[in-house]
Amino acid sequence: MSEDDIIYWQDVLELVQAGKTANLKCPFCQGDTLTVTKRERVTSVQCTAKKCGHFIEGRFSAEDVAE
Ligand SMILES: [Zn+2]
Repeated sequence: MSEDDIIYWQDVLELVQAGKTANLKCPFCQGDTLTVTKRERVTSVQCTAKKCGHFIEGRFSAEDVAE
């Protein structure tokens, strides 16, 4: 994952932090194809579009930000 990618994801991550996990738009292909999954404290956001498939993973839930 490059730093450029993080810039693209930033808007989406802010929405995820705010608790939004559905109807998120992929910043790469602009599809409503993002899936958010949480595993322990790690949140994963993945585009399910076959030609896109961009993915980001990290600790950016609201609880972690509050700490
Ligand atoms: Zn996409």
